[in-house]
Amino acid sequence: MSILKCISCGAQYDISRRYFRCDKCGDLLEVVHDMEIYKPNSMKGVWRYKSLVHPELHEKFIVTRGEGDTFLYKHELISELTGIKEIRLKHEGENPTGSFKDRGMTVAVSHGKFLGARHTICASTGNTSASASSYSSIAGMKSSVLIPKGKISRAKLIQSIAYGAEIVEVDGDFDSAMENLESIVKQNQHLYTLNSLNPWRLEGQKTIFYEIMDKVKEPDFILVPAGNLGNTSALGKAIRDYYELGIINKKPRIVAIQAEGASPFYKMWHYGMDEIKPVIAETIASAIRIGNPVNWKKAKWAIKYTDGIVEAVSDSEILDAKRAIDKSGIGAEPASAASVAGAKKLKEMGIIDKSDTVVAVLTGHVLKDIDNITQIGSMIDFNTFLERIKGESKHN
Ligand SMILES: *Cc1c(COP(=O)(O)O)cnc(C)c1O
Ligand SMILES: [Zn+2]
Repeated sequence: MSILKCISCGAQYDISRRYFRCDKCGDLLEVVHDMEIYKPNSMKGVWRYKSLVHPELHEKFIVTRGEGDTFLYKHELISELTGIKEIRLKHEGENPTGSFKDRGMTVAVSHGKFLGARHTICASTGNTSASASSYSSIAGMKSSVLIPKGKISRAKLIQSIAYGAEIVEVDGDFDSAMENLESIVKQNQHLYTLNSLNPWRLEGQKTIFYEIMDKVKEPDFILVPAGNLGNTSALGKAIRDYYELGIINKKPRIVAIQAEGASPFYKMWHYGMDEIKPVIAETIASAIRIGNPVNWKKAKWAIKYTDGIVEAVSDSEILDAKRAIDKSGIGAEPASAASVAGAKKLKEMGIIDKSDTVVAVLTGHVLKDIDNITQIGSMIDFNTFLERIKGESKHN
């Protein structure tokens, strides 16, 4: 039987619960399954791992767009940039709405359908709202999304509008939108939360890492951009699942990469603080522009459990990495490039070796943020082009 369990006081709740904070202490809940029943099935992507994600859910409740099974890239430009020979990029921007959020959303919305939810709500830096609106509409649910006014990319906003969500603009930043959401859902428990404080999201996101561990032999490091710390937490849980089931014998080390201007988790970890101290977040990487990450306790456990690393990179390091990712033909949004920038930095610091096996997760698609394309495109007029290819043909 699967249950919900409080990460602080251990109180247990039935999975039919739809409010995701503990009644006794107010902390987050996590999903705990019976691990003995693991068996991959013949479905595609996320739901292939159903027995580790949501074993008891009847198939008639599954709301899916075929998310998961994303590509793992290897490219010389990325090895050159980072100085790491065996570095691969897991591209989560190749999911249906263009980010890894779809992996969590398919599970959270399916669970919502099982609960009989009719109205979903989320606060978002953009990608959560794009994904939540799409999956809610697929399931026939109404969706409301709280976004920080003027602070999310147009492409992401347009997705939510197109998928039919009700857009609620909140003054202030993502953190104030998230605060508003928490008080609204506490008082209106018919609303079903789709932020990563919904523990079913993390169950779906674990599958990014099952897919990596199924494909790459003994990765030494797995790097993720870190904002609200949902992925960092899901990665820890996925590694624990595989380790306890005996599928892997060595735990890959988790590396959480924050943007310098939005790095409360980095500060907590390196200054030896017991708790997170919220900051006012500022970075060009809008998807990780978060000053008060909701999943910090789960993420702290994940870093400890895998002897992991927390690092921060500057906006210019992020843009340098993005330029290389884009130029290689792979492409990603700025926040995604943080993982690659982090790999380069840790190699320079001597923590990652050039011969280590490394996987960096790219979290979002290149078209998610078109204001930060820094490549200088080569544009020439038609006649110059004709002259040039004439010249070329003489040499070939
Ligand atoms: C949501 C998001 C992140 C942050 O992930 P967390 O799990 O909140 O740490 C990073 N990159 C992109 C593109 C995102 O959409
Ligand atoms: Zn509790």
